[in-house]
Amino acid sequence: MHLLDPKLWTGSVFSGGWTSAREDAPVVEPATGEELGRAGVAGPEEIARACAAAAAAQREWAATSFEERAAVLRRAGRLFEEHGAEIQEWIVREAGSIPPKAGFEVHVAAQECYEAAMLTSQPLGDILPTAKRRLSLARRVPAGVVGVIAPFNFPLILGIRSVAPALALGNAVVFKPDPRTAVCGGMSIARVMEEAGLPEGVLHVLPGGAEAGAALVADPHVRVISFTGSTAAGRKVGEVAACHLKRAHLELGGNSALIVLEDADLEAAVSAAAWGSFLHQGQICMTTGRHLVHASLAEEYAALLSAKAEAMPVGNPLTEQVALGPIIDAGQLAKVHALVTASVDAGARLDAGGTYQDLFYRPTVLSRVPTAAPAFAQEVFGPVAPIVSFRDDPEAAALAAASEYGLSLGILTADPMRGMELAEHIPTGIVHINDQTVDDEAVAPFGGVGASGTGARFGGAAANIEAFTETRWITMQSGIERYPF
Ligand code: NAD
Repeated sequence: MHLLDPKLWTGSVFSGGWTSAREDAPVVEPATGEELGRAGVAGPEEIARACAAAAAAQREWAATSFEERAAVLRRAGRLFEEHGAEIQEWIVREAGSIPPKAGFEVHVAAQECYEAAMLTSQPLGDILPTAKRRLSLARRVPAGVVGVIAPFNFPLILGIRSVAPALALGNAVVFKPDPRTAVCGGMSIARVMEEAGLPEGVLHVLPGGAEAGAALVADPHVRVISFTGSTAAGRKVGEVAACHLKRAHLELGGNSALIVLEDADLEAAVSAAAWGSFLHQGQICMTTGRHLVHASLAEEYAALLSAKAEAMPVGNPLTEQVALGPIIDAGQLAKVHALVTASVDAGARLDAGGTYQDLFYRPTVLSRVPTAAPAFAQEVFGPVAPIVSFRDDPEAAALAAASEYGLSLGILTADPMRGMELAEHIPTGIVHINDQTVDDEAVAPFGGVGASGTGARFGGAAANIEAFTETRWITMQSGIERYPF
């Protein structure tokens, strides 16, 4: 059986079952420009209806036994595995991902559901000390309706990492995926949850643009927002959420540094560096956006990384065995190329790449990059590795910390303790000693600081319970308290 039968999602959104949307949009394969189908696109009115329906369904869902909720999420995990090949192909075609990246997404999606299933049986509170003769409890209760907004780059993981734990904890969810990845990042989650037996109305999946997202953030039924996307959009989401007095978990952009100390194994460092900068065409929030290399290694590092980049095949990941697929669309590609061109104009040396055909951008290496050049100073979100050299650890720390972002950090060294000490001077949400900057596991609390987000975390029981529940203080005593008046 096909999980993602186009008959179900053509022109439709998932909101109280499959319902026709007033508008639809082409589902495009960026590698070929081919139209793979047409998915429904939601506007503010459809979002409002979905939020009201979610609020109506939430109480009953929250009242189900933890075993029932766990069973739904366990079935969802199994369905991601059973239909893995089909979902993977959609990620390859619709998001332009190479098969290993698409496979990783499916694997993590299943893990997110299994972890969420276990979340249902976690203790949900504490017994508190109290000065009176009574029982005093801090009890975690579902937030109510959770709004989830996800981007196009890791569409499945970035949706399910909030959808699954929010559902497990008794919330209803209205999920707005990016319309460019409506099927692999949206309909796949809707179909899996439908097949897993999630009651109707508890989950709504409505692809849509910024207007639909803004309506979701402002909707009075929605109590918590889980937003993953750019820092610019995240600021707007945070502002609106604050006005409506609701919590917003903001996972935003990055410009993560990889520091290569002079004692690092150079060949291994270059392999890690290429993965960090070029995986999924550099369209990852944790992408290695800045290579800080000790001056004694910098020239050789640039030469080896450039040779690797030149040798990397770029093409259609469905039909060829390639290392890089296409950029998601022409707008993103133009942005990447403008940042590379401006950086070369600013004095960076173009060692590899810097060219493109259709949506295929060659892996690009820039060396001797002035730190003010845009490819170094800004998030590129493309396959670009800018290299800057440093002379000692304090200079490396200062360069790495001189960014408004604070998502991930990699430090490569023969002396891990030295790496840890260096990391203490660089504020980021994630640190990998002897690895590049890109990684994710369903059990790890994931998040950034500074312009990378509000320090919110998804992943692991503690972070997920914190993110998707409210704390209620409850006291209980046998007689009514008497007061002086
Ligand atoms: P984007 O901010 O333009 O879009 C992300 C999502 O937000 C989309 O679903 C979009 O429709 C929606 N949106 C846009 N404006 C909105 C608004 N005003 N209100 C509500 N929703 C709105 O991001 P993008 O450029 O498509 O995605 C790439 C960005 O996402 C990069 O900056 C990347 O670093 C970041 N990202 C962060 C993480 C993380 O976990 N920190 C993960 C992946 C991507």
